[in-house]
Amino acid sequence: MNLQYDVSLKPYNTLSLDVKAAYFVCINDLYDLDAVRKFCLDQKCPWLLIGGGSNLVLTQDFEGLVMFMSMNQVFWPVEAASTEPMDHFTVIVQAGYDWDLLVAESLLRGASGLENLSLIPGQVGAAPVQNIGAYGVELKDTLESVEVFDFDTGKAFTLAAVDCEFGYRDSIFKRHQCWIITQIQLRLSLNHKPQVGYGIIADTIKVLSGEVAAKASPQQVRDAVIHIRSAKLPDPKDIPNVGSFFKNPIVSDSKMKTLARQWPGLVAYAIGSNEHKLAAAWLIDQLGWKGFVQGEVGVHEHQALVLVGSGVATGKEILDLAQRIKADVAENFGVMLEVEPRLFNGRGEFYLEL
Ligand SMILES: Cc1cc2nc3c(=O)[nH]c(=O)nc-3n(C[C@H](O)[C@H](O)[C@H](O)COP(=O)(O)OP(=O)(O)OC[C@H]3O[C@@H](n4cnc5c(N)ncnc54)[C@H](O)[C@@H]3O)c2cc1C
Repeated sequence: MNLQYDVSLKPYNTLSLDVKAAYFVCINDLYDLDAVRKFCLDQKCPWLLIGGGSNLVLTQDFEGLVMFMSMNQVFWPVEAASTEPMDHFTVIVQAGYDWDLLVAESLLRGASGLENLSLIPGQVGAAPVQNIGAYGVELKDTLESVEVFDFDTGKAFTLAAVDCEFGYRDSIFKRHQCWIITQIQLRLSLNHKPQVGYGIIADTIKVLSGEVAAKASPQQVRDAVIHIRSAKLPDPKDIPNVGSFFKNPIVSDSKMKTLARQWPGLVAYAIGSNEHKLAAAWLIDQLGWKGFVQGEVGVHEHQALVLVGSGVATGKEILDLAQRIKADVAENFGVMLEVEPRLFNGRGEFYLEL
């Protein structure tokens, strides 16, 4: 393993937070993981795995070892020998592969299932961690299994998708931080059925290609998603950010009705018979935060859910702003927002208290 010392993590996180790692290493294979594990045990130092760095906030120099996941091979199926028509195939992808590149390549190979998840930044290995989702599709819809390296025991094992405890931006991997995902297996469809339940997707397909949504090709869906996302989400290369900073809160039926009486126009989606998901962006927007700027941090001018940094902002400044927004929403709506990105101090993960 190629150990480096005192490495700036600024290029490794999309908020461009300039903290240092005492030790830094790129993981190219399972041998590297083994060697790094032994090093951390010997040195008794904390460790942190970074992928694309698009879903984390680093608040301090990291006292231990930071690993950057560089295992990035993809194994497409070889041409089927059978003359029987196939309705799907599986692809095996290592954790360090770029997520959006995988989406693009899957469409070029005639497979569908990932197109709604186009343009989500980050690596393949992080996708199961928060069960990435967008426009009515989540990773769990195509995932078959995950290869895991347990950093505590040094053992590798396979976890089937049904055992990953997937939920809204949630999975078992958030509860087992010593589990490193090294590879995933996806089942992609060769019989395309467009997922175009979101009105904005159908409308954009019509505008861009003239096609009715129900007949749209996977590439037309991808084009629409890219068009929508590029218009409403800041590119971290231009404006440092980690996408949505808060999850959409889930409330009971009675709470939603009480709020709807007080706040006409409340944006809520029924999930199941007795619960509703509230649009966190709408709540924050009502309180006037959109476009707010203070020092080196702010709220994006077009998207109230996205906190932005100047490029020289600190993680603490970002979290102070998040805390003010969270307190304001709690006071006015009686709703507790949950932070979506993962938060790290000098020794490991922590959680934002109000
Ligand atoms: C502009 C923008 C838009 C976004 N839009 C969406 C969206 O629509 N939907 C959505 O769900 N998310 C979205 N995100 C969030 C983010 O892109 C995803 O969560 C993505 O999966 C994070 O990948 P990453 O490689 O950058 O993870 P990182 O930020 O590097 O890591 C995130 C967490 O996962 C852990 N981790 C990383 N790799 C592994 C691994 N191999 N094994 C185990 N743990 C690992 C890290 O330790 C960390 O705790 C957006 C972010 C941005 C900046």
